Amino acid sequence: MTETVDAPTATRIPHWIGGRRVDGGSGRSGPVYNPATGRQTGAVDFASVEEVDAAVQAARKAFPAWRATSLAKRAELFFRIRELLHARREEVAEILTREHGKVLSDALGEVTRGLEVVEHCCGIPTLLKGEHSEQASTGIDVYSIRQPLGVVAGITPFNFPAMVPMWMWAPAIACGNTFVLKPSEKDPSASLWVAELLHEAGLPAGVFNVVMGDKLAVDSLLEHPDVAAVSFVGSTPIARYVYEHATASGKRCQALGGAKNHMIVLPDADVDAAADAAVSAGYGSAGERCMAVSVVVAVGDVAQPLVDAIKERIPQVKVGDGMDPSSEMGPLVTSEHRDKVASYVENAPGEGATVVVDGREGVPGEGFFLNPSLLDDVTPEMKAYVDEIFGPVLGVTRVATYEEAVRLVNESPYGNGVAIFTRDGGAARQFQFDVQAGMVGINVPIPVPVAYYSFGGWKSSLFGDLHVYGPESIGFYTRGKVVTQRWPDPSTSKIDLGFPQTR
Ligand code: NAD
Repeated sequence: MTETVDAPTATRIPHWIGGRRVDGGSGRSGPVYNPATGRQTGAVDFASVEEVDAAVQAARKAFPAWRATSLAKRAELFFRIRELLHARREEVAEILTREHGKVLSDALGEVTRGLEVVEHCCGIPTLLKGEHSEQASTGIDVYSIRQPLGVVAGITPFNFPAMVPMWMWAPAIACGNTFVLKPSEKDPSASLWVAELLHEAGLPAGVFNVVMGDKLAVDSLLEHPDVAAVSFVGSTPIARYVYEHATASGKRCQALGGAKNHMIVLPDADVDAAADAAVSAGYGSAGERCMAVSVVVAVGDVAQPLVDAIKERIPQVKVGDGMDPSSEMGPLVTSEHRDKVASYVENAPGEGATVVVDGREGVPGEGFFLNPSLLDDVTPEMKAYVDEIFGPVLGVTRVATYEEAVRLVNESPYGNGVAIFTRDGGAARQFQFDVQAGMVGINVPIPVPVAYYSFGGWKSSLFGDLHVYGPESIGFYTRGKVVTQRWPDPSTSKIDLGFPQTR
């Protein structure tokens, strides 16, 4: 969406380059809305190629001193960042609610999960420890070290405007890189807030930069010769594009894409617990989570009681402005997205699905609201099954056997999260072995790994090899080097032209 500012009261949202706010000079900007009111509240600058270059040059200039900063000092700084973020988490949660729409408690949850990654990075001296082999050969020691890449870029989606950038900047900077973030243009203010907080914590100017913008900013980063690596999180078509273009210009890239997460409910499952989980994971954050449950696969005769139990719970979900503490589900991010999500409910009967609950009815207020919808009898050919709807529309697919359920998951082009609900430990163990997805929940509907494991999907949910945060992020944001050293005893030194032997 490229528009100039039309709301006279809209706050300007500039870039952050070299340790200060920098107004964009391209003459292009995009509108930012409060989704709960539907009104424009901000106008975000869209960077030109020159502005992206200025951010990369600021990061490049800061790199030599930052990579030379001792691990002890980096760890100390990360403890300070953690303390500041923790103390001021409610401030940033409010920003998230006002621009994204998610309810305040969910926004706080997002910040808390991001903070866990920052906390993990406080242990950077341990995380960067190499290996050492004494006397690998006679008089020779061999050891490995990991060194930062240089300037790295992060490109992030609208649905976690604080947490997903933290997945990237925290490990990247802790490893000694300098960073350029291009956040979503739909809810960019949290990134500016974080930039100011990092500055206050004492991070040197240029180590963390933010360029606001659209495709032009992304393309400029992908083509920039001084950007060594790109982390991306967003939809699958753009993830594929970013991966192909970044790697074609010689960069390391991890690009996380979209999802269609299945929750399998076996006949022996506790129906109430499964229904609670389906409602929480299907409608939490209005379904705008890459780990949201989108399809419930009901196996055998659990289907009808499960559909009834989910239907019974839906009217209890309180939809409203996220700033109201009694709201449990907020609006969608834009009116266009709300209309697109609603179209799946509109088209469901024509495709042969049953609309059990129609979320277009009784929608509150002026904002981009949609109530929870429940579709039954959804089959794999339907668009409501195939597409990542990314909204509060939960589909139920009925199958006869466990094998059919697993086949559905494994035939999906996506492989982000998946969950199984059962009381049978053997079935759950078999499922974990069989299923083709990166993150598996056993009676856990949203299995986002804790910060000391890594997050990532399979198939079209991830392009690249390494997952984000946790141990794999240390691998992504560093290069290995192996040193073979000898300190000969001068008394035994002699000339030897032979090839070095390993024994
Ligand atoms: P998106 O792909 O539209 O945008 C992501 C980023 O790419 C934004 O910064 C955007 O400005 C940029 N972008 C958009 N179009 C572009 C183009 N044509 N060329 C270059 N850059 C472009 O995604 P979104 O709508 O902001 O976020 C929702 C999507 O993100 C969903 O598909 C969701 O599943 C996915 N997501 C995935 C994960 C994960 O971990 N796998 C996590 C969160 C979100």
